Amino acid sequence: MKIVYTDNNATTRTADEVIQEMLPYFGELYGNPSSMHTFGDKVDRKIKQARQRVADLINADIEEIIFTSCGTESDSSAIYTAIHAYPEKKHLITSNVEHPAIKSLYQYLEQTQGYKVTFVPVDNKGLLDLDILYGSMTDNTAIVSLMWANNETGVLFPIEEIAKKVNEKGILFHTDAVQAVGKIPIDVKKAGVDMLSLSGHKLHAPKGVGVLYVKKGFKFSSFLMGGHQENGRRGGTENTASIIGLGKACELARENLPVINTSVRELRDYLQAQLLEKIPSSSVNGDLDQRLPNTLSIGFDAVEGESILLMLDREGICASSGSACTSGSLEPSHVLMAMKVPFKSAHGSIRFSLSHYNTKDEMDIIIAALAPVIHKLRQMSPFWKDGKVV
Ligand code: PLP
Repeated sequence: MKIVYTDNNATTRTADEVIQEMLPYFGELYGNPSSMHTFGDKVDRKIKQARQRVADLINADIEEIIFTSCGTESDSSAIYTAIHAYPEKKHLITSNVEHPAIKSLYQYLEQTQGYKVTFVPVDNKGLLDLDILYGSMTDNTAIVSLMWANNETGVLFPIEEIAKKVNEKGILFHTDAVQAVGKIPIDVKKAGVDMLSLSGHKLHAPKGVGVLYVKKGFKFSSFLMGGHQENGRRGGTENTASIIGLGKACELARENLPVINTSVRELRDYLQAQLLEKIPSSSVNGDLDQRLPNTLSIGFDAVEGESILLMLDREGICASSGSACTSGSLEPSHVLMAMKVPFKSAHGSIRFSLSHYNTKDEMDIIIAALAPVIHKLRQMSPFWKDGKVV
């Protein structure tokens, strides 16, 4: 069966060019980049090239790039850096739609380490309440951390505008840009952020490699103590092949950005328009304009997201639901709840996230499959009668 993969916000296919770039570093070029000999130095030079390629994608300088093991580690390192830099400041700010990589850490710091946390709310389009954000910043705030793009809805926060205000207050600003990098242009200098997280597997590099950008001049607190790798800022022998793969993926991402903003956006808009037209009582979650070009979160009243996914899975279609199904909870996702999406459509919400590997034929396969799936599920639903929600 042909797989139609539309779950690229969960993870992406490693690009063939990336795999080719990595292969020698699993095999014949196995030297340690810290070694004195030429054999190790060859790997070191390739890592330098990867660092440059990452820096070029986000307009950073190479010494501002720290390789990590994933987006989660980058996020944690940023927050711990802030709380080590300002141990006397006991207030933290974030939004109430963050990825668990930030949300769980903030909750942990609040529940066990005496921090007070402001979780800034969003409106029903997923847009941040800027008045509450700016009103909550005080001299006691150690860091503001906000995602650039939401993983479930694709909604974008106005990071450049926010960074300016946070900087004026003299507060550190971190952005979790894991879903944004490679999908929209990012310029850390123009944005004025102090720290930024990204993750390889969201932009066609392998899993298990990430980056934390730390603005020059700011003292980064090492999260992993050990050797002097990453300029003494993260101990541990480098994940050489993956770092080199990430470098290649960043180079490709620069070339592909216009494609994401045109062809991928067109595919997403086509899928969205067709589903809204063909399936009654369906609605898009999130702001239609301030949104990643590849993401569609769409709710179908009176059905269960998990049931839709299982039925699509039988047709080879990979998408995802916002429900916290892994935790065994039947609650819809915290993102849709924070947006106050009505319960009956939040429950039946699924996310399609595209990449430049998707085609129009694949969108047509999804469109043809989904209408009968929703129809069938509604026939069994206690919330659906005579063609409407009850
Ligand atoms: N932040 C966001 C917004 C994400 O979507 C993800 C992954 O889904 C992460 C952080 C965590 O990244 P990683 O899987 O590399 O740890």
